[in-house]
Amino acid sequence: MAMATFFISFLFASLLGSAKAQFIEYNTTQRIVPGKVNVHLVPHSHDDVGWLKTVDQYYVGANNSIRGACVQNVLDSVISSLFEDKNRKFIYVEMAFFQRWWRQQSKAMKLKVKELVNSGQLEFINGGMCMHDEATPHYIDLIDQTTLGHKFIKDEFGQIPRVGWQIDPFGHSAVQAYLLGAELGFDSLFFARIDYQDRAKRLKDKTLEVVWRGSKSLGSSSQIFTGIFPRHYDPPDGFTFEINDVSPPIQDDILLFDYNVQERVNDFVAAALAQANVTRTNHIMWTMGTDFRYQYANSWFRQMDKFIHYVNKDGRVNALYSTPSVYTDAKYAADEKWPLKIDDFFPYADHPNAYWTGYFTSRPGLKGYVRAMSGYYLAARQLEYLKGRNNSGPNTDALADALAIAQHHDAVSGTERQHVAADYALRISLGYEEAEKLVSASLSYLTQSGSSPGQGKITSKFQQCPLLNISYCPPSEDILSDGQSLVVVVYNPLGWKREEVVRIPVSTKRITVLDSSGKEIEAQILPLSNATLSLRKYYVKAYLGRSLGETPKYWLAFSVSVPSIGFSTYIVSTSKQIGPSSAVSSVYTSRGGTGNTIEIGQGSLKLIYSAKEGKLTRYVNSRSLVTAAAEQSYSYYTGNDGTDKDPQASGAYVFRPNGTFPIKSEIQAPFTVVQGPLLDEVHQTFNPWVSQITRVYTGKEHAEVEFTIGPIPVDDGIGKEVITQITTSMKTNKTFYTDSNGRDFIKRIRDFRTDWELQVNQPVAGNYYPVNLAIYIQDSSTELSVLVDRSVAGTSLVDGQIELMLHRRLLHDDSRGVGEVLNETVCVLEKCEGLTIQGKYYLRIDHLGEGAKWRRTAGQEIYSPLLLAFAEQDGNEWINSHVSTFSGFDASYALPENIAVITLQELEDGKVLLRLAHLFETGEDKDYSLLTTVELKKLFPNKKISKVIEMSLSANQERAEMEKKRLVWKVEGSSEESKVVRGGPVDPEELLVELAPMEIRTFLVNFDYLHIFGS
Ligand SMILES: [Zn+2]
Repeated sequence: MAMATFFISFLFASLLGSAKAQFIEYNTTQRIVPGKVNVHLVPHSHDDVGWLKTVDQYYVGANNSIRGACVQNVLDSVISSLFEDKNRKFIYVEMAFFQRWWRQQSKAMKLKVKELVNSGQLEFINGGMCMHDEATPHYIDLIDQTTLGHKFIKDEFGQIPRVGWQIDPFGHSAVQAYLLGAELGFDSLFFARIDYQDRAKRLKDKTLEVVWRGSKSLGSSSQIFTGIFPRHYDPPDGFTFEINDVSPPIQDDILLFDYNVQERVNDFVAAALAQANVTRTNHIMWTMGTDFRYQYANSWFRQMDKFIHYVNKDGRVNALYSTPSVYTDAKYAADEKWPLKIDDFFPYADHPNAYWTGYFTSRPGLKGYVRAMSGYYLAARQLEYLKGRNNSGPNTDALADALAIAQHHDAVSGTERQHVAADYALRISLGYEEAEKLVSASLSYLTQSGSSPGQGKITSKFQQCPLLNISYCPPSEDILSDGQSLVVVVYNPLGWKREEVVRIPVSTKRITVLDSSGKEIEAQILPLSNATLSLRKYYVKAYLGRSLGETPKYWLAFSVSVPSIGFSTYIVSTSKQIGPSSAVSSVYTSRGGTGNTIEIGQGSLKLIYSAKEGKLTRYVNSRSLVTAAAEQSYSYYTGNDGTDKDPQASGAYVFRPNGTFPIKSEIQAPFTVVQGPLLDEVHQTFNPWVSQITRVYTGKEHAEVEFTIGPIPVDDGIGKEVITQITTSMKTNKTFYTDSNGRDFIKRIRDFRTDWELQVNQPVAGNYYPVNLAIYIQDSSTELSVLVDRSVAGTSLVDGQIELMLHRRLLHDDSRGVGEVLNETVCVLEKCEGLTIQGKYYLRIDHLGEGAKWRRTAGQEIYSPLLLAFAEQDGNEWINSHVSTFSGFDASYALPENIAVITLQELEDGKVLLRLAHLFETGEDKDYSLLTTVELKKLFPNKKISKVIEMSLSANQERAEMEKKRLVWKVEGSSEESKVVRGGPVDPEELLVELAPMEIRTFLVNFDYLHIFGS
C-alpha cells in the first residue's frame, strides 16, 4: 500500500516537473493580476481583549487550562515570520495587546518592527484598544477607545489606520459605519456576523459588499464601503493551519509520502471560484486566521507560501499576500457601483431560534458601571484641563485604559466569564480611584485659586461618594453627625447651565442648606426605602469587606443651579434652633380601598394612580395639556433551557424565552406616597425581589423610575429575564424607534426588516433592539419616550407599549463559546446571593414632534450627571475664603442646548483636544435641528488661542488631509438625497465653529502661553 502511494505520488510530482527533492524557493512575490480571480490572503489573528480569560492572562498565556492562548506568542512568532520573507503580510488589530508587547521590546527590535510597518508588511487596522462591541457601548466611549489606540499608532509608528475590522461583534450599528468608520477616515469596514436570513439573500444577490450610509443626517458625506464575509472570519474549510488544526498541509517533498500538491491546488481553486461566484469584481478576500491563531506563525506562513507558489503556477486563479487595505484599493479600482445600505445590522441571529439579543442586557451591573464611569471620565478630563495637566500627580490615564478595554465585544456586552467581568470592573475601579484623586485636587485648586493666587497651597480635601446610589456617603453622614457643616461642591460637565435636585443621605431631619450667597434654599427630607437600605447593608459589606455602623435615616434633597463646565457650592448644616429648615415630606401608605385616585407631582406633571389597585393609570401635563392613559408593570420571561427539539438555551448572548409571567403583588402590597416641595415619590413593592420608586420633580416634566431587581429566584430551576412594560393606548402601527449607540435614531417595525422578507421564528427575541439612549413610540398626536441609564434591550411587542429588559439570571449556557451560565452572584464571606441591580429609566409623553428636545437634552444630562464633592467646613468661612461658583467658560456664555462638549482634555504637550457634538438629527426638532454656531473664544476665557486645527474624529490626522484622501464610492440606482449640511471651515480670526445636525467636530487647540500671564 505504501509502495503504491509512493509510486503514484512520484509520478504525479514528475508530471509537475519538480523531480528532485531539494530546497524549493517559493515565489510569493505575486501581486494583483487583472483579468483573473485574485485571492487576497489576509493573515490575521482574532485576539479578544478578555473573554474566557482576562486580557493579561491571554497576553502572557496564563490559565491555559481554560484555553491555550498566548498573544505574546502570536506577536513574537508573527514578527519573526515577517522578517523571514518580505512578501509576507500580517494585520494587527487590538492595540491593548500590541502595546503590552511593544513596551517589552528592545530598541533594536522596535526599529526592525517599524521597518515592517513602513514597508506595509505589518499593518495596523481598526486600531482601537480593542475591537469594541457595537450594541451596548455609548458613542463617546467608542470615540475615546479608538482615539487612544490611534494615538499609540500615530505616536509610535506615524501611521493612520485605513480600515475598520469589526469581524466578531454580534450585529453592527449605524454609528459604527459612519462615525467610527467614515468620520475616522476609514475607506472600508469588514465584518462577519449578520442575520442568517440576510446573509442567504445577499449571497444569492451578490450584495455582501455595499456602500453603507449610517446617518440620515450626514448621508453620503459619511458613507463607507462595507464588506460582509460570505461565512465567518476564518478561512474556507481546509485552509486553517495552526499546529493542531486538521486541514491537510501541502506536501510537496517527493521523498515523503502523501504528495498532494495538485489536489490541494484544486481545493484552493474550487474554494476561490465558489467565493468569486457570490462576490462582485474579480477580487475576493480570504481571512487567513481566527481566534488566537499564529501562536506558531510559521505553520500558517509556510502553507500560504506554498499555496501562492503552486496556485500561481497552476494559473487558474491568482493568489497573493494581501491586507484589507490592498483589497479595498482593488475594489475601488474596479470602478463599480455598489448597492446602498442604510440603517444597521441588528438584531443578529445565526439560527432560527438564536437571536443574539440577550446580551443587550446581560450583566446590567457591569453595563451600569461602565456607563457611570464613562460620564465620570468625561468630567474628570475637564477638571484635569481646568487645573492644568500635571505630569507627576494623579491623572485619568488608568481610567481611560480600563474603560477602553471594557468596550471590547466580550466586555460591556456581558458575554465574558465571571472572573473576566470582575477583572474589567477591578481595572475600572482602580482607574476611578486615581481619577477621584485628580478630581479632588482639581476642585481644591479651583475653589482656592481665587483667594491665594500663585501660592499653590491647597489645603481643602474633597471626598466623593461612588456608592451614593445606594445611600452610602461617609462624609455626609460623618461630618453632619459631628455637628460640623458639610460643603457640597456640585460640578456640571455640560456646556449649559443646569437646575436639578441632588440628594445625600443624612441622619437627622433638621437640616439647613445655604447656597453660595449664604441664602437658605429649599430642601426636602425623604425616607430611605427598604430596598435601598438593604442594598446598602449587603453591598457595602460586599465591596468594602466590613459592616457599617449606623445607617442614615433619610435622603436630604435640595435644588442646585450650576453654571456650564463649572460648579456651585452649597453648605449643609444641622440646624440647632427651631426655625427655617428643610421640609419634611409627608408620607402615607395606601393599602388599597382608600379613596379612588392618588395624584403625584407638585408641578406641571401629574401621575394619577388608582388607590385600589396601587398602580399608575394616567399621565397629565397641565402645561403642555398632554394627557394619556398609562400603565406600568413588570413581568419575566422564563429562559428556554434547551431541552426541546431545538437544544438552543437562553444564555449570555442569546435570548430565547419560553413563556412570560406577569409579576403581580402576592399580597396587597404597600404603596407608599412621599410628598414635598421639591419632589413626590411613590414607593411600590411588587414582590420580594422587584420594587421601584417613581419620582416626579416639581421643576421637571418627566417621571423617573428607580427600579431594584434581585436576587432573581432560581431555586425552581428556571432562569428568568425580567422586563418592565409601559403601556398606553397609542396607536403605533407596529413602529418604534431606538438609538444607535446613543446617537441617531432608527425606525423599527415589528416583524419586519428593510433588507429582506423576514421569516418570523422568534416573535419576542427577534424584535428586540439595543437601547443606549432612548426608545420611543408615536401616534398621530403624541409620543412616548423612555430614556435609560445604561445599555438595555428594548422593544414594542404591542402597539402603544414599550418593553425594556432590565435584568437576566440564567441557568444554561447558550453554546456560543463562553461555556458558563449567566448567573451573577454577590458574596459576603461564604454566603452568596443572586445579583441585585438598581437602575433608572425616565419617561415622558409629549405632543407629536416635541419629544426630541427632551430626549436629547435629558439624555445628555443622564450621561453626564452632576458630580458631587464633599468637604468639611472649618468654622463658618468657606464661602468667604473660597471660590464658590465657577465656570470654565466665559461667564456670559453657555452652549446652546443642542450642542455638547464631548471631549475637553489637555494633552501631554499642552494642547487641548476639543470635541463638540450636535445632539440633533436633521428634521428631529424645529428649533434645535439647525446649523448652530459655537464661539470658541468663549470656551477658553483667559487664554489666547494661537491656532485651531480641525482633526479627524480620532484626532490622528488633519480633517482636510483625511477628506483629500477619502475614496469616493459609487452607489447603484438613482441616488436621490436631500442636500447634506455640514459646518463650514473655521476662520482663524473669528474662531466660530458651525455644527450641522449630527455633526461631531474635533479640534486641536493651541494656546499662546506667553500671553496667559502677560498683560
Ligand atoms: Zn471576539
